[in-house]
Amino acid sequence: MPFQKKKIQFVFVIYWVLLGYIIAALVFWFISLNKQNAQMTTYKIERLSIISATYIVDLQRIQADDKRKLAQYIGEGATFLGLILAGAIFIFRAVRRQLRETKEQQNFMMAITHELKTPIAVTKLNLETLQKRALTEQQKDRLIHTSLIEANRLDDLCNNLLLSSQLESKAYRMVLEEINGTSLLEEVMVEFMQRYPDLVIHKNLQPECFMMADNFLLKMVMHNLLDNVVKYAGKQPINVELVEEGNKYLIKIMDAGPGIPDAEKLKIFDKFYRVGNAATKTAKGTGLGLHLCRRVVETHKGTINVGDAEGGGSIFTIAIPKV
Ligand code: ADP
Repeated sequence: MPFQKKKIQFVFVIYWVLLGYIIAALVFWFISLNKQNAQMTTYKIERLSIISATYIVDLQRIQADDKRKLAQYIGEGATFLGLILAGAIFIFRAVRRQLRETKEQQNFMMAITHELKTPIAVTKLNLETLQKRALTEQQKDRLIHTSLIEANRLDDLCNNLLLSSQLESKAYRMVLEEINGTSLLEEVMVEFMQRYPDLVIHKNLQPECFMMADNFLLKMVMHNLLDNVVKYAGKQPINVELVEEGNKYLIKIMDAGPGIPDAEKLKIFDKFYRVGNAATKTAKGTGLGLHLCRRVVETHKGTINVGDAEGGGSIFTIAIPKV
């Protein structure tokens, strides 16, 4: 990596040197032409005969010619300079964006490799232990439970990856239908309680909240948000709310975790973005989840944002229009 960084710095140095050279050449060209023009004007004036009847007219013509040429050089020079600078800024921005995207892709590939390998390694080890050792029922249950958690994580990750590429290539066909948001949330929460039996979820769901939504996509959003709570807020109780507000339904997920600093509140919805704190470093992740959540919610003509919960922690609020 440091080698690549040096190489990039070297390319940027060459770029700025070349740009400087082009601008210096342009300035030099302007000065030389201007000098040449001044010399020609002096020469033409010297050749005029003072006693000639047309002296004044000729002199004025030569001076006007001189001024016109100067204006022409300034105009042409400024146009060239403008074009060169616009092109240089465009290229610089495009290269910088490309470099940033390449770096994000590299980070993502590293994260994804890690994310894929861990569940496979854990499940493999658990299965080998089950196969080779005589275990008590309790030990077997524990191994099966951790393997299931890892398999579910892998499943969620594959769904996120597939969906991300399908949404990007517009290959995903959204199936908007009238769904009962209350039942959907209940279902997701039951799944989560099975995955994490120690998890305490307090719920306050208004019954029969009908919304036009894609069942699979909305479930995926809820999975990502609840998964994040388990990852970043630990085993603290979670509050899940579904309430009506005007012409929208609000889904709120409140945790008692570390919360999200104000400066990060918008950035966490960017693709591959992960907050650079200790919790994120220890928790596994790709930075794709919340980006997908935002995309999905926006395709439902809704909004998603994060705020601070009372006494710390965060509140993720999704607003979805009513049917
Ligand atoms: P990932 O979890 O794979 O890193 P996400 O897009 O789901 O990616 O989340 C982006 C970042 O937002 C996380 O890296 C984490 O720092 C922060 N984050 C998300 N949810 C929470 C939460 N409930 N509490 C604290 N931080 C969170």
